Amino acid sequence: MPEPALVDAEPRTEAPAAAPPKPAPAPAPRPSGADEAREVAEAAREEEWRNHGFVRDLFDGKLRLDLIHPYPQPDAADEARARPFLDALTAVLKKVDGDRIDHDSKLPADLVDELRKLGAFGIKIPVEYGGLGLSQHSYTQAMRMVSSVDGSLAALLSAHQSIGVPQPLKLFGTEQQKKKYFPRLAKGAVSAFALTEQGVGSDPAQMQTTAVPSEDGQAWILNGEKLWCTNGTVAELLVVMARTPSVTVKGREKKQITAFIVETATPGVEVLHRCHFMGLRAIENGVIRFTNVRVPRENVLWKEGAGLKLALVTLNTGRLTLPASAVAAGKRCLQIARDWSAKRSQWGAPVGKHDAVAQMLGAMAANTFAMEAVSELCSLLADRPDYDIRLEAAIAKLYNSEAGWKIVDDTVQIRGGRGYETSASLKARGEPGIPVERIMRDFRINLIFEGSSEIMHLFIAREAVDSHLRLASAILTPGVPMGKKMAALVKMGLHYAAWYPARFLGWGRWPRYSEFGPLATHVRFVDRAARKLARSLFHSMVRFGPKLEKRQSVLFRLVDVGAELFAMAATCARAQMLAKKGDAQAARGAVELADLFCLQARRRVKDSFASLFRNDDVRTYGVAQQVLKGEHEWLEEGVVDLREQMGIGTAKRA
Ligand SMILES: Cc1cc2nc3c(=O)[nH]c(=O)nc-3n(C[C@H](O)[C@H](O)[C@H](O)COP(=O)(O)OP(=O)(O)OC[C@H]3O[C@@H](n4cnc5c(N)ncnc54)[C@H](O)[C@@H]3O)c2cc1C
Repeated sequence: MPEPALVDAEPRTEAPAAAPPKPAPAPAPRPSGADEAREVAEAAREEEWRNHGFVRDLFDGKLRLDLIHPYPQPDAADEARARPFLDALTAVLKKVDGDRIDHDSKLPADLVDELRKLGAFGIKIPVEYGGLGLSQHSYTQAMRMVSSVDGSLAALLSAHQSIGVPQPLKLFGTEQQKKKYFPRLAKGAVSAFALTEQGVGSDPAQMQTTAVPSEDGQAWILNGEKLWCTNGTVAELLVVMARTPSVTVKGREKKQITAFIVETATPGVEVLHRCHFMGLRAIENGVIRFTNVRVPRENVLWKEGAGLKLALVTLNTGRLTLPASAVAAGKRCLQIARDWSAKRSQWGAPVGKHDAVAQMLGAMAANTFAMEAVSELCSLLADRPDYDIRLEAAIAKLYNSEAGWKIVDDTVQIRGGRGYETSASLKARGEPGIPVERIMRDFRINLIFEGSSEIMHLFIAREAVDSHLRLASAILTPGVPMGKKMAALVKMGLHYAAWYPARFLGWGRWPRYSEFGPLATHVRFVDRAARKLARSLFHSMVRFGPKLEKRQSVLFRLVDVGAELFAMAATCARAQMLAKKGDAQAARGAVELADLFCLQARRRVKDSFASLFRNDDVRTYGVAQQVLKGEHEWLEEGVVDLREQMGIGTAKRA
């Protein structure tokens, strides 16, 4: 789903800023598209940090290891209650034929019914409303199992429970709404989340779907069209985001987006089209039109104008499914790649003995371990009421989907031609139907939906710079009196006089963290690198000023460093926990894998730091602008011109 974030829709130029606009008469001028997008995103942000956050501190140069180490343990009572459900789920999943589902582009109705009976549609819905009442951690475990057999099935359950009606209802619903909808949802009434529109992808500011109060004041009248709504073609209930009448704040129009629970049986709700994709072929995803749909007043979720914030808060835990799906893909690929690397002999040796393949296999094992450490940790932290999971969840989504994609890609490579061949074709000529081709098609979307990788980087970057922006807010905000600006400047000076030196001084080279054994060196690296990260963030702000927002590549490198450090810390903490637990073989293996992961992550961190300011960003951006203007259109010549057929204009026409 789209994701409001720190947005930069305008091309970056190195030209001096334009002359300041003349004072405008009231009402204030409409902001530009980019400003409007930024305003909408900012309004949707959760401003306060009321609880702990390991990653937030990490970006500030502080290693709060106590927040994640000892690695948290699942709640024993929850685990005991989840066990029978997970066992029954596993038994059902063993019978699932992912290739058939892919071929038919349809989930078997009896399978969905079986899942309904198990309670798989109400895993986190409280018991008193008819759900299983399990934790986020148990839910994540279930979703990992489901993802390991079929992506479309995972999408059905996840679109329903991670972003569909149950999650925002649990977080923001009134008692009356909960009593009305939870029992239905728990029994398996499918729900969906409808935000995306033709012109609304990552940026919700341009939303066209509207809801206006009915004449009798008892309802809202909904009009518009939603795109790519997963489960939308079969759902009974939708969470629909719509524009409600704007309010005026300080003479300026402030757009309002509100979330509604909509019954698809209501007259005026229409499925226009079922969409089909590269992978996830059986997802019931569609274009939904609303024509004068009457939505009862009491179906507003949370409150008027809070729709986007609701979506963001919902996604804080909602997006923990995808990291678990990535772990499932990593484990499945590891099985396949290990088997094939040992079995397949070429040039006189199993291919896994050739260094090039071995490098892929080793990294695959280390990264799968790290992805699991990140996914499990985030789910366990999400269950803690005193923890703010928003940055960890965003990193887990970004990190695991990117690392998972590399694993899937390497698995195709290791399987060679067979990696590219469909499972059905393999079977038809007598080979085992190993579905790497389908896994790849199903996996790719993870880097796009529930916040694309780019939008996740921006989201994390916005939160990473938040403490600095707060300090500078009075200075940067237009219209603040000079006296207040000066006071803010003094306050900032005093703050940084203490803050900055502290980001140099630390104990990261002392023989600390000895309880981590051979991994202690990596924890010390995280300690040192966190301070360097905070300094580098500060240096970037000083160097680029407000233009830093437009230097996405710089920001992305900083975010990547933060993500690597979080993954390293999670991995070391998990390995240490497993080492303590008993099983000597697993313990040795965990330390080995964590060590390799950290060695490779350290190299990536060093590379990101090294290229922070020494890079080709400006040059690349410049060439991209030339491409946009059509200056390199000559390069596109030499192929059959299919632009008419594809509906692509030439640059000159654009
Ligand atoms: C299979 C599938 C299922 C989906 N399910 C749902 C659903 O259930 N509900 C729902 O509401 N939506 C759903 N979506 C929509 C999905 O969330 C969007 O595709 C996603 O938000 C990206 O929007 P977009 O495709 O319009 O890309 P755009 O926003 O148009 O972006 C295009 C590219 O530009 C990048 N980009 C955009 N803005 C910036 C920026 N400021 N800085 C840098 N890069 C930027 C993007 O990362 C992307 O690479 C689904 C989509 C698919 C394909």
